[in-house]
Amino acid sequence: MVIDDKEFGEVIVRKSPLARGVRFSISTSGRLQMSVPKYTSDFLAKRFLNSNRKIIREKLPINNPETQRARDYQKKILMKKAKEYLPYRLEYYAKLYGYKYDKCRLTHANTRWGSCSSNKTISLNIGLMKLPEILRDYVILHELAHLNHMDHSKAFWSEVYEHDKNYKVHEKKLKLFTPGV
Ligand SMILES: [Zn+2]
Repeated sequence: MVIDDKEFGEVIVRKSPLARGVRFSISTSGRLQMSVPKYTSDFLAKRFLNSNRKIIREKLPINNPETQRARDYQKKILMKKAKEYLPYRLEYYAKLYGYKYDKCRLTHANTRWGSCSSNKTISLNIGLMKLPEILRDYVILHELAHLNHMDHSKAFWSEVYEHDKNYKVHEKKLKLFTPGV
């Protein structure tokens, strides 16, 4: 869940079965993040936030709301672009090379460009829209190859190689970028 807070901007609420109490931290994108026990209601989460404002302000290096708003806006734009592009690009390559996947999900995690689950859902990060087309395509081909190999084995890489002869260069270049907005 995300709370749209007047003071802190977007606050990410993580409900975790492991959380014993409320913990506040800063996400890699500079947003305020709170983890709460799994069955905490949204109402209660907001109350926790309200009753901890002072300590959050003093202890945590949160982006100022202006920066945060600019970022949220950028994220919205990226999501819009991604929706109009990534599912179609994925479908294009899947058809071209004869892959069958079940669903395409768009994500905005800070750590991964894409993933492929065992139930054949391919997730693509909206941050891909910031990359040069050739790297974006590489990520798509990489995830498609995971439909046949759920690991990074030799067989996996040789399948990637079939569709992208420069995959090693692309893999390296990809490390120069981060997916987060
Ligand atoms: Zn992989």
